[in-house]
Amino acid sequence: MVSLAEVVAGLPETKKLYLDDSYKKEAESHVLRWIKDTGRKGYVVVRETIMHPKSGAQPSDHGVLESAGITFIVNKVMEYNGVIVHYGEISGGDFKEEDCVKLRLDWERRYKIMRTHTAGHIVDYAVVTIYGRPFQSQSAMHDVGYGFQEYIGEYSGDLKERIEEVANEVVMSNKPVFAEYVNAHELSKRVFGAPNLARLPRLDVYRIVVIEGINAIPCGGTHVKNTSEVGRIKIESIEQVGNGFKVSYRVLDG
Ligand SMILES: [Zn+2]
Repeated sequence: MVSLAEVVAGLPETKKLYLDDSYKKEAESHVLRWIKDTGRKGYVVVRETIMHPKSGAQPSDHGVLESAGITFIVNKVMEYNGVIVHYGEISGGDFKEEDCVKLRLDWERRYKIMRTHTAGHIVDYAVVTIYGRPFQSQSAMHDVGYGFQEYIGEYSGDLKERIEEVANEVVMSNKPVFAEYVNAHELSKRVFGAPNLARLPRLDVYRIVVIEGINAIPCGGTHVKNTSEVGRIKIESIEQVGNGFKVSYRVLDG
């Protein structure tokens, strides 16, 4: 069993193309490392990638890396010390260092994750609006079509119909969604409606995802570029958990 620390040892940070363009479905790159695990399974690091790792509240992308007859099916993506590691199964040969590879994203899966993640930020806004005060979040997940947000504190009443109504008003108001980069000093002036400030690591530069007029939240995830792309949000449940409450939701197709 190889550790991620061994896989990435000595490698530069990966250029994360998905941070600048979450709609990029294909790219070309070069192999920096290929390490076999068991059988045909193993780890690939390339210079730049379109694949988002499992991190925080977003699940792994899936996809394919191809090079001259070699196919590598990616079923898990991880990040270690700024290096993105693709885990999966190879066929047709073995990669060599500096091989040129074509990356293709499982776009159907990713687009649904993007819709779900943006929906999560909209749910944050709707919860604040309906309960009339901000909450800190303690965990969240934005999976393929469904997600949840867990907040610390007491909530008053199961107001899921009203939260759903506010969330869908945001969806239908065609608000632009975009990312901005700010330093630690600017952070407090630029974020608003952000439930995750207490959980932020200390960084020199923060990426903020802004839904115009709604909220601006530190986030390294992939988002749609307009709230209308999210589709209808269904709030499934609001339930008491430990020291807080959990809001579960879905994004509906069609
Ligand atoms: Zn986010």
